[in-house]
Amino acid sequence: MVSACLAGENCKYNGGNNRNEKVLRLMADNEAITVCPEQMGGLPTPRVPSEIKDGLVTAKDGRIVDAEFRAGAAKCLELALQEQPDLVVLQSRSPSCGVKQRYDGTFSGRLVDQAGVTAQLLMENGFRCLDVEDLITIHGGFLIRKLSIEESDLLKDFLYQAIFIPQGAEAPARDIIERPELRIYYEDFGSSPGDHCLVAEAAGQAVGAVWTRIMNDYGHVDDETPSFAISLLPDYRNKGIGTRLMRQMLSLLKEHAYRQASLAVQKANYAVRMYKEVGFEIIDENEEEFIMVCKL
Ligand code: SF4
Repeated sequence: MVSACLAGENCKYNGGNNRNEKVLRLMADNEAITVCPEQMGGLPTPRVPSEIKDGLVTAKDGRIVDAEFRAGAAKCLELALQEQPDLVVLQSRSPSCGVKQRYDGTFSGRLVDQAGVTAQLLMENGFRCLDVEDLITIHGGFLIRKLSIEESDLLKDFLYQAIFIPQGAEAPARDIIERPELRIYYEDFGSSPGDHCLVAEAAGQAVGAVWTRIMNDYGHVDDETPSFAISLLPDYRNKGIGTRLMRQMLSLLKEHAYRQASLAVQKANYAVRMYKEVGFEIIDENEEEFIMVCKL
């Protein structure tokens, strides 16, 4: 299920749309239903923009349009219950469709970390809703999306999974990730400009992550180059998910104008092949590890 304006339908309050190429690609590869809750609630297009003020959806001219917004949300829920979409992709910041944020009700452009009425209702009823700005791609049943700040604890789990254990060796205790040289991979993640993380999700569960940070880790080459960390749950390795995550992260870094990315990998790790495949080259090595760099 997707917000109709993302599919290019002119249902926005000003008569325009929010056509989104990623959503169009998603719709071409999957069965999709488009919904515009505000139109479905009986509001005309164009219409006066609205925001949620003191719990009531209110138009900029002061009229209360809460009943229409909630009627539209109820219709979307009815449709979702009938069609059981695997995923709902909604337009960011809308008083109806916003998943993570919406405007604060003052019409001043300020945002609050709360959902719009339709997104809220769908999530309360167990539907997986994704803010379109977090959507990267869907491929082979795996959703690749951005990590949200509230989930940053996931990085600890993935970091532990990323520790390379040579064949026959015993896995280290979980508290190994509390060591200072490993804490730098996740502490205060999201607070620095080089912090980016993409998650691969299958059936609502995070099964892999790739993240970057400018940090003084084993793969550090200079203070302008983000270092990579990547991790997949054991059952999801060797399925091409890692390669896809890496490629998507490399394009994201390119979009952010980084010139290169780096990583360190143990020489015996099977992932060396994958890193070479996506464009990393060995620039240095020590007894145990290769230092690799990918020019963007
Ligand atoms: S209600 Fe949702 S689908 Fe309709 S225009 Fe607003 S953001 Fe788009």
